[in-house]
Amino acid sequence: LSTRLQNVFGKLKGRGKVSEDDVNDAMREVRLALLEADVNFKVVKDFIAKVKERATGLEVMKSFTPAMVIIDIVNKELTELMGGTQEKLIKANKPPTVILMAGLQGAGKTTLTGKLAKLLQSQNHKPLLVAGDIYRPAAIKQLQVLGGQISVPVFTLGDEVSPVEIAKQGVQLAKDQGNDYVIIDTAGRLQIDAELMQEIKDIHSAVNPDEVLLVVDAMTGQEAVNVAKSFHEQLALTGVVLTKLDGDTRGGAALSVKAVTGCPIKFASTGEKIDQLEAFHPDRMASRILGMGDMLSLIEKAQTNMDAEKAAEMERKMRTADFTFDDFLEQMEQVRKMGPLDQLLDMMPGMNKLKGNPNFKIDEKQIARTEAIAKSMTKAEKKKPDIINYSRRKRIAAGSGTTVADVNRLLKQFEDMKKMMKQFSGMMGPKGPKGGMK
Ligand code: GDP
Ligand code: MG
Repeated sequence: LSTRLQNVFGKLKGRGKVSEDDVNDAMREVRLALLEADVNFKVVKDFIAKVKERATGLEVMKSFTPAMVIIDIVNKELTELMGGTQEKLIKANKPPTVILMAGLQGAGKTTLTGKLAKLLQSQNHKPLLVAGDIYRPAAIKQLQVLGGQISVPVFTLGDEVSPVEIAKQGVQLAKDQGNDYVIIDTAGRLQIDAELMQEIKDIHSAVNPDEVLLVVDAMTGQEAVNVAKSFHEQLALTGVVLTKLDGDTRGGAALSVKAVTGCPIKFASTGEKIDQLEAFHPDRMASRILGMGDMLSLIEKAQTNMDAEKAAEMERKMRTADFTFDDFLEQMEQVRKMGPLDQLLDMMPGMNKLKGNPNFKIDEKQIARTEAIAKSMTKAEKKKPDIINYSRRKRIAAGSGTTVADVNRLLKQFEDMKKMMKQFSGMMGPKGPKGGMK
């Protein structure tokens, strides 16, 4: 029991201002989380520096730990970095709107071309697809199959005519036929390749696209920065689409690409099927990249459920070890308002590992028993547990439907806890401990 409460009490103690040490502690965790999510290390470095500057010296509200305050900022800052809000496709003043696909081979350009066509079609548009990849065997066929699935026309001149010419004629055909969107699929590159880069630049000059979408495989990780940088320098991208987010990648590429290009991420592709395309939501991506379980919702819960004044008072009592069974009960009530305990543990990073540990078994029944015992005590007993002699113990056990052994155990735990608190506050000094993430 005491381990459990130690955690919760630890969480209650943050107050005053966020110190540099707090920031350094928390940012160590954040840095790891970002690197684990495969965010480019340079991007991580810049980001950490920025958040450190913002967080140091901030007021820590009652019932928050400094770590919580910092993670909250990190989350908001990440969301903001990835664009804040969801961005739509650009639309030309005068149709057709021309969309040019760019990206490495295998990133998912051709697949995305089909997906976008389906999406546009569902919004009552009439897209035309242009097969601009004449190099990869079966690339034209792949696009034709996709178009066939959704009855969207695919323009091709085979693989003997230059992609620039194909793109030009495709756009002209759209004008003639009254297609309001043209999506030009292009050849992939295995890596940044001067010749192919020149070709897509030529296509760009020839058709002057309204939207240039960089298609990035979310699993690319660290490499994403270089890819995005080269394409952006050559092409002036207008948007990014992340693909393969259905895999188990944490999607750090999103942050890297956004940081380098400044372009909004417009869509997330989440599967091989033609309807697996979603609008990109920066806030959801931020939590995914952070990967801190549901630490963020824990922060929200703390925000709404913890009574700030009570927490402050409790803290004072803990520090002076002037802590009674009434406080104990109230503390429990506060904690329970936040939800079932094992669910709470799930939300704290690292804590879910403890669940398998037999010494750390969350037992709601045990807690109910503890409450029953405390409630069977008289006022005087709660205030001064020292007076609880054997006959009082027998009475309390009977009143709470437990045994004298149960009562003994609880009294012992309570004593241990008080001792621990005294040590704890002595150790940490009057200003309270640092809010740790662990
Ligand atoms: P391109 O070379 O850029 O045109 O890439 P393709 O569109 O041909 O896609 C390469 C491979 O990735 C194909 O096998 C696609 O089915 C697959 N793919 C594309 N997008 C996704 C996605 O969002 N999720 C998954 N799991 N696979 C995808
Ligand atoms: Mg392709």
